[in-house]
Amino acid sequence: MDHIKYLKCLICGKEYAPDTVEYVCPDHGNEGILDVVYDYDVILSRISKGTLAQDADQTIWRYKAMLPVAPDADVPPVAVGGTPLYDAPRLAKPLGLDHVWVKDDGRNPTASFKDRASAIAVVKAREKGIGESAIPITTASTGNAAAALAGLCASVQHPNVIFVPESAPAAKIAQLLTYGAEVMLVKGTYDDAFELCLQAADEYGWYNRNTGYNPYMSEGKKTAVFEICEQLDWHAPDVIFVSVGDGCIIGGIHKGLKDLLAMGWIEQMPRIIGVQSENSSFLYQAWKDGEDVLTKNAVTANSVADSINAGMPRDRMKAMAAVVETDGAYVCVTDAEILDGITELARGTAVFAEPAGAAAYAGLVKAVELGLVKADDRIVVLNTGNGLKDVKSAMTAVEMVGTTANRVEPTLADLKRVMADL
Ligand SMILES: *Cc1c(COP(=O)(O)O)cnc(C)c1O
Ligand SMILES: [Zn+2]
Repeated sequence: MDHIKYLKCLICGKEYAPDTVEYVCPDHGNEGILDVVYDYDVILSRISKGTLAQDADQTIWRYKAMLPVAPDADVPPVAVGGTPLYDAPRLAKPLGLDHVWVKDDGRNPTASFKDRASAIAVVKAREKGIGESAIPITTASTGNAAAALAGLCASVQHPNVIFVPESAPAAKIAQLLTYGAEVMLVKGTYDDAFELCLQAADEYGWYNRNTGYNPYMSEGKKTAVFEICEQLDWHAPDVIFVSVGDGCIIGGIHKGLKDLLAMGWIEQMPRIIGVQSENSSFLYQAWKDGEDVLTKNAVTANSVADSINAGMPRDRMKAMAAVVETDGAYVCVTDAEILDGITELARGTAVFAEPAGAAAYAGLVKAVELGLVKADDRIVVLNTGNGLKDVKSAMTAVEMVGTTANRVEPTLADLKRVMADL
């Protein structure tokens, strides 16, 4: 893989050849997250805007030369990425904005953005298993990352072991079991599941997909912004809104934009605005108060947007850098504003989002109130997960705006009675 120069520790800056470290900087343990540093000349010898324009592959693998996998790597067959970017004038106008687009990543195979990272995990695990039997892949998760790993593994019949807190929502456990994952319901919290998963990976030699630990996960996530910029004819947006839990997605978005700038494919770095719930706001607080994310204590995390609950975000260094280095901001929204976002997004663009996805739109509304965006900014809102992941929250959102179903006898006469009352 001559297009990767080295892996660099975010804390000490030490550089490692990719095959000399497993996941994190040995000097800094779980906090020592590594960044993948590329040789862009090698990449540019393999891919151009012109070759992309000729490429019929609409999945993330159209950007293979820009990803941490071998040029001839065998990739999973399910279609990850290639999600639509919708122009959303009916959302823009009431907010006094000229250009708003919604990127719908709920349209991925397991219905969330997490498929982008899990696809890379499967390729990396298979690289290691060459010639021998498959190395099982493991992760701890409360939901979407686990479903994504289970689904991507199912696509290539790869063994996987998932650790979830036993309190995880039934719908999410159902997705794992349906794909055929080995599921461990841990009698404890997500943090307990995460710790057990790390120990198990070590003990059994499994491949570890954990977010904010495996350096390649943000590399998968960056493909969303490659797509956004290509969908806008390489005219990068001015502002991108993304919801933030552990911080891996926002870090990946930042990384993808840095790649595109370094390759000369875009001319300016968009401002990145991270959105958190006031019920899980570690990064918002740290940004507002100028706190060091490595010494700040965990916060409580109990938002209705379960996918962005993170008391101690695992990828907090990358998440803070994404906002600070792009002159962006963190904004904080209430759970009620998030739920309002579900119906507004659905009615304004036909994108049905789970709460964590709608949070990004709620963040745009908040940013307009705070004067953080200009009327002529070109703005992209990222929906990270499909609304069917959390039907209960959708029903709450609908009740909040007073929409109810009508009850009718199976006769035209009774229908007429109901219609007359509408
Ligand atoms: C995981 C997830 C997020 C947040 O991503 P992080 O990398 O944890 O910040 C947002 N929305 C959805 C739907 C997710 O599954
Ligand atoms: Zn280090």
